[in-house]
Amino acid sequence: MNIKQNLQESFNISDFAYDCVLQAESEIQPQFIKADEISTCNQYRVLSAFQENRVSSQHFQPSTGYGYGDIGRDTLDRVFADAMGTEDALVRPQIASGTHALAIALFGLLRPHQTLLCACGKPYDTLEEIIGISGEQGNGSLKEWGVKYQQIELLNHGQVDIPTLVNLLSTHHDINVILLQRSGGYAWREALSLQKIKEISRAARQIRPDVTIVLDNCYGEFTECAEPSDDADVMVGSLIKNPGGGLAPTGAYIAGKKSCIEKIASRLTSPGIGREVGSYAGLYTPFYQGLFLAPHVVAQSIKGAILTARVFEKLGYEVMPATTALRSDIIQAIKFDDKQQLISFCESIQKAAPIDSHVKPIPWDMPGYQHQVIMAAGTFVQGASIELSADAPIKPPYIGYMQGGLTFEHIKIAIMMAVTALKKL
Ligand SMILES: *Cc1c(COP(=O)(O)O)cnc(C)c1O
Repeated sequence: MNIKQNLQESFNISDFAYDCVLQAESEIQPQFIKADEISTCNQYRVLSAFQENRVSSQHFQPSTGYGYGDIGRDTLDRVFADAMGTEDALVRPQIASGTHALAIALFGLLRPHQTLLCACGKPYDTLEEIIGISGEQGNGSLKEWGVKYQQIELLNHGQVDIPTLVNLLSTHHDINVILLQRSGGYAWREALSLQKIKEISRAARQIRPDVTIVLDNCYGEFTECAEPSDDADVMVGSLIKNPGGGLAPTGAYIAGKKSCIEKIASRLTSPGIGREVGSYAGLYTPFYQGLFLAPHVVAQSIKGAILTARVFEKLGYEVMPATTALRSDIIQAIKFDDKQQLISFCESIQKAAPIDSHVKPIPWDMPGYQHQVIMAAGTFVQGASIELSADAPIKPPYIGYMQGGLTFEHIKIAIMMAVTALKKL
């Protein structure tokens, strides 16, 4: 039996879907070569970070209690800093999520009466309550601590409005931190490329060399040949996304300038104690091994995203980013014709999962959203979006957001299943 028959029998894939996906794959080989190049240069950087820090099996060992002198923790910080190209880093399983890490970073850097400026329009949903632009009074947001907030809307094509940024920095001297979001997140825009981040950072620093630039780097790590460590003072991301390589079971990182990381370490634990404490009674192995695998796993996700873009372009859908666009995050958005198609797509992603494939995702009223949301994620690590997953708010223009995938082959099968199901509607 050949591969085609095998797949068709196991997963009910139609002839049309199989041929369409294979045809698309043959058309995107130039993009795959580029993805392999990026993966290779990131793998070199990560490998040399391991070697220069002389990582050995003693660094995998757990610690208990205060965790004084935990060499696994401290070495992981060093390896991450070198891999990200920063002076310093804090990498902790105790940081619950990317949102938590962003909160620690912002609370660590900002003081009462200073202003946080978000230059990429409305920030990621979960940041709104940290800033205090939504959520309950009395929850301890930045606003309650007297930190002011300003926001610059994105221009029509999702570009950062640099002239307005420059203007605000010239007139508002209390702006201390600029927050940039690299990924398009759940918006119809391209990610900020390294080149764009450089332009924004240069323009800002020309007016205010002392301003601190914080980059929400979630979904962006290892998608380009370097990280924007010269242009951001601090970068923040989740370990159940790109840099955990699919193996890290939890946690997040904060990487950047030494002076910033020191301030943030005081907030991570407490003033006076900083980074010296924090034990982990589990093995550190998956954090190290996950970082080692991350460049490759991210490239698998990127290839899957490119394939998805090409398949849906061929089928006449609008996609973001386009097949040939430069990518700086792992998200692929697809604009479907109606609600039924959108739900069918998410159902197929779930059906293709190694875990919970028998579960049917159903749109639900998620707290904090005005519309119902559907989420497909059959993952080994709960909520890990470096594993293949898809989500969407159920509202026009019916955009589905897909990201992750530990192996390209898995994403390919999932897309074949999605096309099969769509054509049956
Ligand atoms: C995922 C994400 C976050 C928040 O991370 P969580 O781990 O879900 O809390 C913030 N910003 C962006 C752009 C993200 O993709």
